[in-house]
Amino acid sequence: MRVLLVEDDRMIGSALVQALKDAAYAVDWATDGEMALASLATQDYDLVVLDLGLPRTDGLEVLRRLRARRDATPVLVVTARDAVQNRVAGLDLGADDYLVKPFESVELLARLRALSRRRAGSAQPVLGNGELSLDPATKLAGFRGTTTRLPPREFALLQSLLQRPGAVLSRAELEERIYGWDEEVESNTVEYLIHSLRRKLGADAIRNVRGMGWYVDRGQ
Ligand code: CA
Repeated sequence: MRVLLVEDDRMIGSALVQALKDAAYAVDWATDGEMALASLATQDYDLVVLDLGLPRTDGLEVLRRLRARRDATPVLVVTARDAVQNRVAGLDLGADDYLVKPFESVELLARLRALSRRRAGSAQPVLGNGELSLDPATKLAGFRGTTTRLPPREFALLQSLLQRPGAVLSRAELEERIYGWDEEVESNTVEYLIHSLRRKLGADAIRNVRGMGWYVDRGQ
């Protein structure tokens, strides 16, 4: 899953980037409102973490313009402790949730998991297609009686496939879900991750369409 973090505070921003990467998100970090809007116009994100106090265009204006162009990407707003009015304004402008600074990154991560469940139209914490299951909180994957804890990139790849069972994702589409701006994509990484996942879970866990990409079965 790809997250856009919009935060102008360097210390908070770099700590959050690390926490998000550790949790297997591909993260892009924008440090002002204009950069955030430009990123959102050119890249498809699963989630946005939006600080409201930003240079150039502030967070509420970013949110207003995002919703005005009918972009429904889930947005978690981050505000200062005393800014009740901003929180209310953010929710009314189409934010999906908020957090008050200072907060623990474990809470941010739990709220992002909840937002992506809601986006998928499911209250179930575990992704699955009947045979294959994946728990975003524990990173445990299961297939036909085998259970294994996945490292971040393998988790991110399998999660991308399980978000749309039956849909074939190309190498480029998978890379986009796994890597942020600042990360070098090495050739054959996707093939390597798929190979490793199949070795751990079983060859049938992930299907290949030659020359097009990979998918997981739609299930029942
Ligand atoms: Ca700020």
